[in-house]
Amino acid sequence: SGVRLLGPTEIRGLAAELGVRPTKQLGQNFVHDPNTVRRIVATSGVGPDDVVLEVGPGLGSLTLALLATAGRVVAVEIDPVLAGRLPQTIAEFAPERAADFDVVTADAMTVLPADLPVAPTALVANLPYNVAVPVLLHLMAHFPTLNTALVMVQAEVADRLAAGPGSRTYGVPSVKARYFGDVKRSGAIGRNVFWPEPKIESGLVRIDRRDPYGTDPEHRAATFSVIDAAFAQRRKTMRSALATWAGSAPRAEELLREAGIDPGVRGERLGVDDYVRLAAVAGAAR
Ligand code: SAM
Repeated sequence: SGVRLLGPTEIRGLAAELGVRPTKQLGQNFVHDPNTVRRIVATSGVGPDDVVLEVGPGLGSLTLALLATAGRVVAVEIDPVLAGRLPQTIAEFAPERAADFDVVTADAMTVLPADLPVAPTALVANLPYNVAVPVLLHLMAHFPTLNTALVMVQAEVADRLAAGPGSRTYGVPSVKARYFGDVKRSGAIGRNVFWPEPKIESGLVRIDRRDPYGTDPEHRAATFSVIDAAFAQRRKTMRSALATWAGSAPRAEELLREAGIDPGVRGERLGVDDYVRLAAVAGAAR
C-alpha cells in the first residue's frame, strides 16, 4: 500500500523537529517499533470497510499502520503541536492514503460524533494511561457506531477491564465495560517499544459491542450509578454499601431482595446483569 512506518530514527527526528518534550500528564509515550503497531492493527481485525477512530495519534506511529489496512482513519489528538504535524507526516509516509485521513484537535474525554467528519466503526488506540478507562467508556457510550474497540493500556488496567466477577481485579471498569459487550484481554507489550520508556508494562484489551441492554443514556446512567455506589466501599456488603444510594439500609435490603440479590453479598461477586436488575427495580419503585 506504499505506507512506510516510523522507527526509532523517524520518531527521534520528528520529536526533535517539533521540540517535543513528552509529558507524563498527557501520557505521551510514543511507539517506535513497527512490529508493535502492525500487531495492534492485526489484533484489532480492522479492514478496508472500517472507519477507524484513533485517540492520541501522537507522532503517527499507529496511524500509519492503520492507514495501511483500514478504509479511513479519523484521529483525535489533544496536543495541537502533534495534531498540526500529522497531515504532513501522513503525506510523507503514506502519500496514497492522505485523502482518507483526518485529524481533529480535541479532548477524547468529551469529543462527540458531531465533532468528527464521519461515523467511526472501530476504535483503535494506544490510550494515554491516566485517562484510559474514562476515555474508553465515554467513547463506547457516545459513539454507538463503534462495533469494536482494541486499546493498548497499562497492563494492570487491561487486567481490570477484562476481569470477571469474584476475581481480585474485578471492579467498576470491569462491570461497566461489560455493559457494552464482550471484553477480552489479548496480548502483552513490553516497555522497550516506547520512547520515552514507561515504568510499567502495557496490554491489549478488546471490546466487541453487543449492547445487550440497549443504548438508552438514562438506563446506562442509572445502572452506572448503582455500580459506582456498590464499589465505593469495596469491603462492605451490598446492604450497607447501597444504604446512601437507596436512602437507608433497610430500603437497600428491600430493593436487593426484590432484584433477587442476597443483601449480604459483596459487590465484587455480582455481574452486570445483577446491577441492571437492581437499577430497574429502583427505577420502578420511584
Ligand atoms: N498513538 C501514539 C503512539 O502509539 O505512538 C501516541 C500514544 S501516547 C500513549 C498518547 C497520546 O494521547 C499522546 O499523543 C497524547 O498527546 C494524547 N492525549 C493525551 N490525552 C488526550 C486526550 N484527553 N484526548 C486526546 N488525546 C490525548
